[in-house]
Amino acid sequence: MRQYHDYHRSIMVDEILNQMITKKDGIYVDCTAGEGGHSKAIFEYCEGNAKVIAVDVDYEVLEIAEKRLKELSENIEFFKAPYQDIDLVIKGLGLKKVDGFLMDLGVSTFQLKGVGRGFTFMNDEPLDMRMDTQSTLTAAKVVNEYSEKELADIIFEYGQEFRFARRIADSIVYRRPINTTFELVEAIRKALPYKEINRRKRHFATQTFQAIRIEVNKEFDNIKTALDKFERFLNVGGRVAILTFHSLEDKIVKHYFKNNEHYKLLTKKPLYPTEKEIEENPRSRSTKLRVAEYIG
Ligand code: SAM
Repeated sequence: MRQYHDYHRSIMVDEILNQMITKKDGIYVDCTAGEGGHSKAIFEYCEGNAKVIAVDVDYEVLEIAEKRLKELSENIEFFKAPYQDIDLVIKGLGLKKVDGFLMDLGVSTFQLKGVGRGFTFMNDEPLDMRMDTQSTLTAAKVVNEYSEKELADIIFEYGQEFRFARRIADSIVYRRPINTTFELVEAIRKALPYKEINRRKRHFATQTFQAIRIEVNKEFDNIKTALDKFERFLNVGGRVAILTFHSLEDKIVKHYFKNNEHYKLLTKKPLYPTEKEIEENPRSRSTKLRVAEYIG
């Protein structure tokens, strides 16, 4: 049986609970339930009185959450669905209004570590990177079928690989077909000057992998679609809490709430994890939390 410390370590839990929970008998939708850490925390914080809808597009990860949280209560519902279809989930459950939506836009530890789905450059795995294994666009397709310009643009914009995007795209195209994560790492390595590889604090493939993952899962489009749907289902006073890990994600979220008269942005400046949390969980270091209240 998996122990607590084996699970994905949920980020900024206290901050989310303090900011998002407005009533303990409310209905809260965890749009990115992953292994269920935040769902569990919400349920326990509300002393078992809340209803929690745990949604994730990755059925493998959601199965872990379901097993982990099953014995807590029937008041936690699990739903395999993309958050951009959140309207269908809510209607499917026969609900009209809810009190909070949570989005945690990172990648789960399960996806990164052990599933052979190509999210990580630390293991040699097939190039997949789909959060939803039923969708058709894989990392292999992006890497092998996109034009060099399309690849360069994605790596530049989504990977924020400003100086070397073109060189990386050129190296990828030159080495096609690329079938595994290690082959992709090698193509990136060949594109970067030795000095640059040594200079970087993070692994030199991090940004390109991130860019391809964002493209495969259409992450930015999906966030916008989901945001547009939330207000239809929020009770007045209900809140949306979003953890972002990428400056473009944060920009989308910030602009959305700033320019929407139906919301009051409760966090004019984003909240960040404490130094202690970053020390204990370095993956939280680039996290920002923004919270908005639906004012009708
Ligand atoms: N909050 C979780 C916890 O505390 O255990 C971890 C969530 S993990 C960082 C992010 C999750 O979002 C992943 O499990 C991933 O499958 C899910 N995800 C990514 N894109 C999604 C989408 N479009 N719809 C629903 N879930 C999505």
